[in-house]
Amino acid sequence: MSSIFTKIVKGEIPSYKIAEDKKHFAFLDINPAAKGHTLCIPKKEVDYLFDLEPDELAALTQFSQKVAMGIDKALKPIRTGVIVEGLEVPHAHIHLIPIYKESQAFSLGKKVELTKDEMKKLADQISQNITL
Ligand code: 5GP
Repeated sequence: MSSIFTKIVKGEIPSYKIAEDKKHFAFLDINPAAKGHTLCIPKKEVDYLFDLEPDELAALTQFSQKVAMGIDKALKPIRTGVIVEGLEVPHAHIHLIPIYKESQAFSLGKKVELTKDEMKKLADQISQNITL
């Protein structure tokens, strides 16, 4: 079954389209965190962003940059923030959220407290699992 975002790309579900090229689509988030909150997606249906092939991820990032530059030019936020969650819709997407004031609530607002030891362990644990 097609994802809700594929249905948007196909026009089976209406959306406020921002931009489209052969492999990507950008549209306003239906439940915006700020004016101009936009989602950028690959037309290819992949659930997890980091399961995209490296060239596909690069292309989506470049598409998102162009869209963000359009948001910045049109809406003049302080800057446009980027969030990737993907917990609700299993079709990879990048949230572009214009930030209009320093105090604007963002989902990065909630912090966890960690000791220096825990930070060191985490850094080691992650770095040992990276292949460059
Ligand atoms: P996430 O999967 O990153 O947690 O969030 C999915 C995002 O997609 C949410 O911000 C939600 O508002 C948005 N969304 C879900 N369904 C629709 C839809 O049918 N149309 C649009 N434009 N946005 C949607």
